Amino acid sequence: ISVEEFVAQTLERIKKTDEKIHAFITVDSQNALEKAKAIDKKIKSKEKTGICFGMPISIKDNICTAGLKTTCASKMLENFVAPYDATVTARLKSEDAIIVGKVNLDEFAMGSTTEFSYFGATKNPWNAEYVPGGSSGGSGASVAALECLASLGSDTGGSVRSPASFCSVVGLKPTYGLISRYGLVSYANSIEQVGPVAKTVEDVAFLLNIISGHDTHDNTTANNAHVDYTKDLKSGISGKKIGIISQMIGDGIDKDVASATTSAVSKLQDLGAECIPISLDAVEHSVAAYYTIASAEASSNLSRYDNLRYGFDFSTEGYEFKAFVSKARSHFGPEVTRRMLLGAFVLSAGYYGKYYLKAQKVRTMIKAQLDEAFKKVDYLISPTMPILPFKIGEKIDDPLKLYLTDINTVTANLSGIPAISVPFSMSSSGLPIGIQLFANSFKEKELLQAAHALQ
Ligand code: GLN
Repeated sequence: ISVEEFVAQTLERIKKTDEKIHAFITVDSQNALEKAKAIDKKIKSKEKTGICFGMPISIKDNICTAGLKTTCASKMLENFVAPYDATVTARLKSEDAIIVGKVNLDEFAMGSTTEFSYFGATKNPWNAEYVPGGSSGGSGASVAALECLASLGSDTGGSVRSPASFCSVVGLKPTYGLISRYGLVSYANSIEQVGPVAKTVEDVAFLLNIISGHDTHDNTTANNAHVDYTKDLKSGISGKKIGIISQMIGDGIDKDVASATTSAVSKLQDLGAECIPISLDAVEHSVAAYYTIASAEASSNLSRYDNLRYGFDFSTEGYEFKAFVSKARSHFGPEVTRRMLLGAFVLSAGYYGKYYLKAQKVRTMIKAQLDEAFKKVDYLISPTMPILPFKIGEKIDDPLKLYLTDINTVTANLSGIPAISVPFSMSSSGLPIGIQLFANSFKEKELLQAAHALQ
């Protein structure tokens, strides 16, 4: 079939499926079809096409797309259209990918369930009463529901891996600095990365080839030699050493998740890996450190939404300056407001040393303990999420409970190392369970090889 027909069918599927799943905030049918037609033309005239030609891809709605809304699932950016493409968007487009639309998230990527979206929650495609994980829930759900072939999400504390695990797809949080953040709306810049979400490890490797690498627009990107992540993907893990993180398989873990982890370890052992327990005791403080640092950076980043630089239309009539700004800012949702207050508090003169500084020390401790661990092992393993997907609404009123579900994911963000979630099994109740593998910084190639062996 032609690319146009394929894309038309994909758009039809989105229309039908999304009534139930609500993964998309914006579907860009017209541009998608036009791009498809242009590719068909290229093929007909034997012109060279990009390597993603015709691939329908969705993009998390906090990654800029020129001419197409980027809302961050917030009232504050309800009608914001970025005048430029994020580097990752531009790289996909230049390889002839078809951007079918922008997908849902927790407002400004703050959350773990995609329930905190101004546009309403996304549902888990495996059971629509359950959360899809978050904050890149739209990415996970759109791939799992076959509304696109792949998606880009962002991962500040687990936002690519949580939905990957809950929706049974693959999600990678790359090493800090591997992928450009230019055009990713900042939440907590020092820990976040764009990450690919796809059905298979092969597809994730394929996308990583395209979106990774140095970018003059983002000075935090590393200028490393080019790596082909798709090459030698099937090398296996025979002879490799894997550390099972003790702190991530103990108390509070769901029994189905625990037994899936045991089976994953056995599978890796059967494939010739040696698995040993590894203790990282700083992990016990990681959630506290993460929410301190992430909120601090968020409170600073979100100060630009004052309805002067960014915001939505409402009349200034009858307001003096401060009242106007506070009125506008009162339109942030509850979770974003909580983070901004928390962040301003931990950065305030009287509490900076007590909270923010301590959190940074925990971060250094985590990194040091990981450096030690990687002297002994090639990889680390844990369940991605300690619990199974839960019902929509079940935890929304208990922020602390929600924060604690990030216990296994935030370590990779605080330390900068790469981590991947691979679908492993289903619970007795029919809900997906993902397993997480970590490797040392810039060892994505090895990480993908291990993930491929596990998948
Ligand atoms: N759940 C975490 C948070 O709410 C992670 C979010 C993310 O990675 N963007 O901050």
